[in-house]
This record gives sequence, structure tokens and C-alpha cells, in this order.
Amino acid sequence: MKKRVFSGTRATGRLHLGNYLGAVKGYLELQNNPDYEAIYMVMDLHAITTPYDKAKLFENTRNVVMDYLACGLDPEKSIITAQSLVPEHTFLAHILSSEITVARMQHLPTFKEKVKQHPDHVTMALLNYPVLMASDILLYKASLVPVGIDQEPHLEVAREIARKINEKYGTDFPEPKRFATQGEYVPSLTGEGKMSKSVEGSYIGLTDSLDEIKKKLSGAPTDSGKGEAIPEKGGVANLFKLVELFEGSEKRKEYEEKYLGGGVRYGELKTELAEAIFKEIEPIQKQRKIYENDPSLVERVIKEGAEKAGIIAGKTIEEIKDKIGLIK
Ligand code: ADP
Repeated sequence: MKKRVFSGTRATGRLHLGNYLGAVKGYLELQNNPDYEAIYMVMDLHAITTPYDKAKLFENTRNVVMDYLACGLDPEKSIITAQSLVPEHTFLAHILSSEITVARMQHLPTFKEKVKQHPDHVTMALLNYPVLMASDILLYKASLVPVGIDQEPHLEVAREIARKINEKYGTDFPEPKRFATQGEYVPSLTGEGKMSKSVEGSYIGLTDSLDEIKKKLSGAPTDSGKGEAIPEKGGVANLFKLVELFEGSEKRKEYEEKYLGGGVRYGELKTELAEAIFKEIEPIQKQRKIYENDPSLVERVIKEGAEKAGIIAGKTIEEIKDKIGLIK
């Protein structure tokens, strides 16, 4: 039997370079590997764990599906759909939530970060986020999960739950491992933390024009252009990382040598970088137009994906009901 892959992106807006390099590039690699059966979803139930705009949620969900398709996800090869169309995700999440303590959830760095961002919105759904994510993965018995490095603590929770439930009930959930890409951590343009949809000014979107990219990069913090040592964090470190990701490590080395010698001209660096980024995403933008002009095709992908996912999910639920003694 083929091994399964599961991953998803929250329906909180269009994809950015971090989502693309850290997650979607991994989705593509595994979709095209015949040893795996891949399921990629738009996580709309995860999107409502932080404040959200009801009027935009549906559109955001469709937008992420269009981004997926434009990047090369292929419904002939992968199951592509929206999380809430497969209600088994929440059913299993409830069962799994009895295998992990409140204290364990409260100590997760991702939870603490979200509490800081939204102090007035610390809900049960937010606390339970990693359990729902464990359910997303275990529901399909996925063994590989292409996600950015920021998701590692959540995967640890999923492994812990899988181990516990297997020991207790004799189930056979694989302990899911992260599938890492070269861009597993794309830094923020602000010079602090990772590129994220929820931090304004931190990201470049996959649908941004060359001018928009230039404008966003021009705001990224820099320094005088030279120094005794290459900065390890902050604006310049992040720019060098982006150069490495989009122009290669040789180019990064060139800039580093300049930094330690005659000095880097950031204006030039930023223009070149903007062009390299745009060159990579321009074909995706062209492809996206096809889906924007064909809403019924997008609908069909989502609907058929939900049917296929529902069949696998239904089997897991039948099995777990039996194992834990729920009425059938
Ligand atoms: P965001 O944090 O922007 O809201 P999500 O939480 O929806 O994005 O993450 C979707 C996927 O993109 C996850 O696999 C996540 O690990 C990955 N990802 C998000 N930001 C980055 C980043 N800056 N670098 C690498 N991967 C990222």
C-alpha cells in the first residue's frame, strides 16, 4: 500500500513566499513521487481559531485552492479539498483530545505566541488547535507531513497522541514525520521572526507584482552595508537568507564577501532580489488566471476531493469507534 502524505494551509489569505517554499514545494515533490498518496487541504476550521472575517472566509478558502492549483498541485494526482467538508476531522479531534493534557497544550510555543497576538481571544479552539492538527494527519494515517519548521512542536504532539492511542487501543496510526524543504524557514521582511500572513509588512504574496515586491523589499531594514562579521539575525541576515533562497548560495557568498570588504549596496541587492523572486512566481500568476476564469473547475476540484477524502476518513472513524467501544 502507498504511504500517505497530509498537509494544509489555513484559509487566512493568499499564499506568501513562506507558504510556498516551506510547504507547497514539499507538497509538489511528494505529489510527484509514486510511492505516496497525497492529501492537501485548505484548513478553514483552523482559520477560525483566531479572529476572522466571516465575509471573507469562503473566498479565502477558494483562493488558497486556486493558489495550490496555480503552483502545480494536480487533482489527478493529489486529493485537494477544504477541511470543513470532511466533518470526521472534528469527530476524531474530540476523541484524541482525551489523550493529551491541558498543561501540555498551554506550554506549546505556538499557543503562547498566539495568546500574545490575540490576548482577548484565547479560546478553547485555539488551545485545541494542535489536537485538531493531529486529527487531520491521523485521520488519513499519514506518515509524512510537508510543513515549515514552525510546525515541528505540533507534529511532536501528533506523534505523542499516535503513540498513546496505539498502545492503549491497539490502533496502527503511523507517527508522522515532517518532510522538510530547503525553504523550511523563510524569514520576515521586518527583520524579526518568520514571514507570516498574520504579520503585516512581513511577507511577499505569490500574487504580488514586481513593483509591489520592490516596494516591500525597499522597506526591509538594513545597516551601513559593511561590518566585521556577517549578522546572524535581523534585517540584513534575513535579506541574505532570501538571496540564498532565490538566487543561490554562491550569490549569497558574493554579498557576504562584499559585506566584510568594500560594502554592500542594498539598493542593488534589493532590485536584483525582487527580480529573482518575481521570475520564480510569474509563471504561477499566469497559471492562476486560468482558475480565476473558471470557478466551476475550482468547485469541482473541491467537491471531488471532499468525496475521496471522506471515504478514507470514514474508514478510520469506523475502525476507531470499534477500538474505543463507541456504539455503531
Ligand atoms: P501563516 O503562518 O502565514 O498563517 P500557515 O500557518 O497557514 O501560515 O502555514 C501554512 C504552511 O506554510 C505551514 O506548513 C507552515 O509551516 C508553512 N509556513 C508558514 N510560514 C512559513 C515561513 N515563513 N517559512 C517556511 N514555512 C512557512
